[in-house]
Amino acid sequence: MESPSVVIVGGSLVGLSQALFLAQRGVDCVLVERHHGLSTHPRARGINPRTMELFRQAGVEPRLRAAESARALAGNSGVVMAETLASGEYRRLDQAYFMDTDTDFSEYTPVSWCLCHQDEAEPAIAARARELGADIRFGTEMTGFEQDDDGVTVTVRDLATGTVRTIRSRYLVAADGARSGVRERLGIGVAGPGTLSDFLNISFTADLREVLGARRFVICYLTALPVRAALLPVNNADRWLLHVECEPERAAAMSEEECRELVRAAVGVPDLKVTVEQAAPWAMAANVAETFRDGRVFLVGDAAHVMPPTGAFGSNTGVQDAHNLAWKLALALEDLAGPALLDSYDAERRPVATETVGQVVLRSKDRSRMTRGDAGGPAPVIRSDAELMFTYRYRSDAVIAGDTGAEPGSGETYGVGVRAPHLVFARPGERVDLLDLLGRDFVLLAGPAGISWTKAAADAAARCGVPVTAHRVTPALAEAVSGQGVLADPLGRFGEAFGVGPDGAVLIRPDGFVAWRAATAPEDPARHLTGALSRILHARTVPSLV
Ligand SMILES: Cc1cc2nc3c(=O)[nH]c(=O)nc-3n(C[C@H](O)[C@H](O)[C@H](O)COP(=O)(O)OP(=O)(O)OC[C@H]3O[C@@H](n4cnc5c(N)ncnc54)[C@H](O)[C@@H]3O)c2cc1C
Repeated sequence: MESPSVVIVGGSLVGLSQALFLAQRGVDCVLVERHHGLSTHPRARGINPRTMELFRQAGVEPRLRAAESARALAGNSGVVMAETLASGEYRRLDQAYFMDTDTDFSEYTPVSWCLCHQDEAEPAIAARARELGADIRFGTEMTGFEQDDDGVTVTVRDLATGTVRTIRSRYLVAADGARSGVRERLGIGVAGPGTLSDFLNISFTADLREVLGARRFVICYLTALPVRAALLPVNNADRWLLHVECEPERAAAMSEEECRELVRAAVGVPDLKVTVEQAAPWAMAANVAETFRDGRVFLVGDAAHVMPPTGAFGSNTGVQDAHNLAWKLALALEDLAGPALLDSYDAERRPVATETVGQVVLRSKDRSRMTRGDAGGPAPVIRSDAELMFTYRYRSDAVIAGDTGAEPGSGETYGVGVRAPHLVFARPGERVDLLDLLGRDFVLLAGPAGISWTKAAADAAARCGVPVTAHRVTPALAEAVSGQGVLADPLGRFGEAFGVGPDGAVLIRPDGFVAWRAATAPEDPARHLTGALSRILHARTVPSLV
């Protein structure tokens, strides 16, 4: 019987990302997807800057940016509203919470939005995951699974031949979508308002260049139709998506000619030549699973939470689930972390999903309010995109290993449990983004006088069995010689950002979240760091401390 470490059910955006992040950490995984290939429907397309950070670390960013839709839409910005596309009159919606694709992101991240449609994003992610060793199998359906104390026995059927096989893995990840069969089999319920409305997602080709003119928007809400409708460019030329509110029965019965008529009404050109490529019904819903873990089985992506598409948080939240889970599974599989580290997946991601779903529902309602024309009315209290993307805080045991007297960074932004901030360091002739130092191992950054931390990091790493990369951060560029673990901080932001003194240090997890801080160097930094690391890992045996 085959025995990979992890089986992933579902090979859409989130399942493929799970395979990517596991393979990035050397975990052997098999992904089964019942469809015969990747998505041919453009569907979701907004990859937000936080998710692009993760794709950058995994080596996928250049491929995503090179995709046809990403190149075509690189200059698009703005959520706009018009009667029809041809009506000429058009208004930009500029809610204060909204972080548009042309916002200056340099305060938060070196990475920007990427509008890459799902039918192009999936091949890019799958190709990189395969390069790193992931085994991705299409036309293969998971038909059942049983878990016991040591692993999961997964039954899969090859849909071309009908052959049924069993695979024995240590863990199972369910990325099988909103109607997750895995979640259902486990009897895990969902909580939330459920279906909010139903849509038909029409993918079509029509040359709209003349009607569009020089306008380059992200999404255009159209008021001429009697139902909610929005037009989304795929390439600003002849590939487009039209989302229309539509009851499922009506959507199922909709003829191609009716789809064409909807497109013509939205564009405002009655004799427009339109080819309907695909029309996919889609339920806009808001729900969160009651738990994201049952023993050796984990829910990620739409299997764990669904939300309206406003702001494109859906697939982004899913990809970030997969990233949170990957390093924990990798360490648990190597027996370097105790089982409780895996509990922190649910403890960390479910509150984020619950908050995000709540916020996205508010946004979705606010969009309807604004497109109805009462933009002057009071907007519901909505937190900014930047806050939702970058400053949520994990409060699990894996990050309450503690601060040693550290003062919170500015506005408590970069304390324990929060994604490490965007800092730009330097070596002579070289810019070094903190983001690019993160993403694989634990990273320790020490202040300019924190010389003792380098040895402490090596000791702690040896005792806990996990690599810890140490860097000392100094104001002097000349000291920052490559290969010596010294970085220059010309803007002097390090200490203030993390709330640590010149001999303090901060430990960052493999997913880029702050795990532990020491405001100053204690008498025996190795002992403190080893203690912190073993608590973060929930190590089965706490290494002997001197
Ligand atoms: C038609 C449609 C239109 C959408 N439009 C938008 C949009 O406009 N904007 C937006 O933000 N989001 C949209 N979404 C949602 C968005 O695509 C998802 O949030 C995103 O793809 C992440 O989902 P996922 O990978 O978790 O699950 P999904 O994309 O649902 O993928 C789940 C995968 O699991 C596979 N699977 C399920 N059961 C099994 C099994 N037993 N064995 C093997 N494989 C299995 C399925 O075939 C599927 O490929 C849309 C979704 C759909 C279906």
